[in-house]
Amino acid sequence: MRSTLSLAIVLTVGWILGAASPASAQTPPEREITNVTGDLYRFREIRHVGMFLVTPEGIIVVDPTNPGLAAWLKDELDRRFGLPVRYVIYSHSHNDHASGGSVFAATATFIGHENMRHNLQKPPADAPLLPRERLWDANGNGRIELSEANGYAAQAFDLLGIDKRQGLTRSNIWEVRFGGGATVPPDIYYSDQMTVRLGGKSVELHYFGRGHTDDMSVVLFPDERTIYTVDALTPKRLPFEDLDGCFLPEWLDWLRQVDELDFDILSPGHEAIGTKADVTEQIDYMRDLVDAVQAGIDAGKTKQVLVDTVMLEQYAHMREYQNWRAVNVAGAYEILMSSGR
Ligand SMILES: [Zn+2]
Repeated sequence: MRSTLSLAIVLTVGWILGAASPASAQTPPEREITNVTGDLYRFREIRHVGMFLVTPEGIIVVDPTNPGLAAWLKDELDRRFGLPVRYVIYSHSHNDHASGGSVFAATATFIGHENMRHNLQKPPADAPLLPRERLWDANGNGRIELSEANGYAAQAFDLLGIDKRQGLTRSNIWEVRFGGGATVPPDIYYSDQMTVRLGGKSVELHYFGRGHTDDMSVVLFPDERTIYTVDALTPKRLPFEDLDGCFLPEWLDWLRQVDELDFDILSPGHEAIGTKADVTEQIDYMRDLVDAVQAGIDAGKTKQVLVDTVMLEQYAHMREYQNWRAVNVAGAYEILMSSGR
């Protein structure tokens, strides 16, 4: 989680807990496990949430999240259930959800979408910038200097200790989002759909094409009538910041396919759980965002004009509208201007 957001995160988490128990002004626990339904649980660290399903033959973990949280989770699972983790399912390859699985490697089989294979490969030092990154490269030297960087790229200088005069390569930018060496690669890759069965229970993985990333699985727990959508569908909240690495307009089609699934409970990788009704709001928001930005591009408007005029006021009640509406618009502009990514 980027440091510039830390204050907002603390305030937001405090607000949620405060709302739940107004008599208490205590700091919320940094980590916790909560039951969703039956043997299905969420585990959380600050504002990141993964899931696990307990069966008589072992546990299925979805998104180990990060090394510190995964180590804590393993201790908790040992203490509470005394069962090994048999499967680790990845929703996608972003390292703020996929890292830390090594603590389960002795007992677990790791599963992810086949596009994770490419995304987990560090690009060579001379790899060209992505189309969207080339929009940032104002001086056209093939590197992103600090004055040209935003979003995750801007963090890379400090996180990787890169000389600010030197600029970032494609490989440097990848390192921030996918690197760190802490992601155990999948043992099993699937392409369209897969069912994992353990101890009389099942978990389905569904691939609906490009959206938040090109390697995103929707995880469906059919008996629990619950889906896990991690970063790609967050109930009652705008999509994250500048839509880094996301695909438009394909994300809209992705959301519509999620709406076709049979479920009642929607469990995201951030914030509180929702219901099927929250899918409709996300579809409406994404459609209106894409339509407005594309119409502006077609009319020859600049990014700044669109940021100043695409207000999407009908979604002002959603979380992070005040903070992320402008960067959602700017991100959508850059994606739609650069071959859909
Ligand atoms: Zn992500």
